[in-house]
Amino acid sequence: MKAVAPMFEALFNQLTHPVAVLKADVPSFTIAAVNEQYKKSLRSTTNNLIGKAAFDVFKPWDSASEKQFDLLRNGLIQAITEKQQVDLPTINFESCVVDGVLAQASWWQIQITPVFSEDGQVDYLMCVNRNVTDQKEVSLLVENASQKEQELLEELQAVNEELASTNEELMATVDELNQSQENLSVLNNDLEQRIIERTAALAASERRYRSILNALPHIAWTSTPEGEINFFNQRWYDYTGMHIEQTLEKNWEDILHPDDLQTGLATYQNIIASQRPGEYEVRKKSINGEYRWHLLRIQPVRNEHGEIEHWVGTSTDIDAIKQLQQQKDDFISIASHELKTPITSLKASLQLIDKMKDNPSKEMLPKLILQSRKSIQRVSTLVEDLLNVNRLQHGEIHLNKTPFILSQLLNSICNPISIMGKQKIYITGNLELMICADEHRIDQVVTNLVNNAVKYAPESAITLNIQEEGSMVRLSVTDEGPGIPENKIPHLFDRYFRVDDAGYQASGLGLGLYISSEIIKRHDGEIGVQSELGKGSTFWFTVPIGAC
Ligand code: ADP
Repeated sequence: MKAVAPMFEALFNQLTHPVAVLKADVPSFTIAAVNEQYKKSLRSTTNNLIGKAAFDVFKPWDSASEKQFDLLRNGLIQAITEKQQVDLPTINFESCVVDGVLAQASWWQIQITPVFSEDGQVDYLMCVNRNVTDQKEVSLLVENASQKEQELLEELQAVNEELASTNEELMATVDELNQSQENLSVLNNDLEQRIIERTAALAASERRYRSILNALPHIAWTSTPEGEINFFNQRWYDYTGMHIEQTLEKNWEDILHPDDLQTGLATYQNIIASQRPGEYEVRKKSINGEYRWHLLRIQPVRNEHGEIEHWVGTSTDIDAIKQLQQQKDDFISIASHELKTPITSLKASLQLIDKMKDNPSKEMLPKLILQSRKSIQRVSTLVEDLLNVNRLQHGEIHLNKTPFILSQLLNSICNPISIMGKQKIYITGNLELMICADEHRIDQVVTNLVNNAVKYAPESAITLNIQEEGSMVRLSVTDEGPGIPENKIPHLFDRYFRVDDAGYQASGLGLGLYISSEIIKRHDGEIGVQSELGKGSTFWFTVPIGAC
């Protein structure tokens, strides 16, 4: 009965007739479930019945009773082969031996109803046993009464005609008796039919309930009021790769992350004990061995009296959200660190300037002012990047397109860098090409690509190339620096992404390429990179040449 939902189980036990559910595993007909009435009528226990072959439990006691058993066996087989309900004629299990004990004398009417699996096969046979011993006794009484009546009639007719009217009255009484017995039988049949229909409807609603859970994109399960899990939907089996037997063993240490095992199980028990909905997070192992964060939500389902009938639980994969949270936390610590460095240096420069304000050193003062400017420039670039991300996220960046010669823009970006640094920067390709784009935004993108080349490939020459490709212009920035590992390339343009290799100690927020790619996307262009470790990288983008 464990697999049967509690709601169904309760109703099953409330049926007034003994009902047994047998597996359709000819010839065993294993007893799968019996209700309380059934056990009572046989004076037997669950242990003596469930899981046993029906004809091992019930045995004929003589050749006449063998026929009764054949009748029952044939009826079961008929229900399977014809996939129809079979009503057996009244069977007398007068001296039926159950578990070696003589059962109570009784007459039974057995109705066998096939229960189908999803694919239309007969899985189980539901045997509703109607004890008709009372009716049988009444009809025997009636038979005796009418026999005696007949004798009396004959005697009275012979002896005294006056008694004829009395005799008629008696006949009427017998008729009435017959009539009420018929009514009783109709009522009984009606009740029986309603119970069978209700049982079938409940089984169907149970199947519907489970198929709804199976349709969910989340892992879902149900459990008994005590928290014993009795059903997992298909997503559980897809995610864990477990089959039903492994699942029934409930080895949670095979599923939950070792660090979450104790707290996870304790929280689950606490929620069940509290009888209130609850939720918690654990890492669960997926079919490919990867632990992913899941949010578990557990909700009690109560009946009309407010009692918990069962629990329904869902498990939602929140790994991506968790990773984003982690990225954000990392970003906040990097951003704070990045801002702190130039501010500390600015503070130091200002303190020195303050000290020498009455007696300024001609050598030191310009150096300190330059140092302060650089620090302020660094802070404002960082703040500008942060503001840009915010604006991009809220769609607040609008393009202001004007015509300009691309090579001139590149010159204005590269000249100050070449003057200040020791790196050589070459600008090649179509130096005459005029494009229609947002000059300020394209400036931002190129500055970022060139600054990255300066920062991450400090020893290398840098080449910028302008190429016309149909209606588009392609600009590439090539360096001969350390290159980028292949597995990192797909993430380079993600927000807050930094390669974070031990070899790279350069500072940054991991925002430059993200901002650049958003600007290029808004120009209906494309951005990308080709890179080989040890050989260098070429970052490129295309935008429409356009006309203003
Ligand atoms: P950051 O502010 O960290 O430089 P970006 O978005 O501009 O952020 O760059 C993302 C990451 O890409 C950098 O952290 C760096 O590791 C890598 N990267 C960018 N340009 C180059 C390059 N020319 N050579 C090697 N690595 C680079």
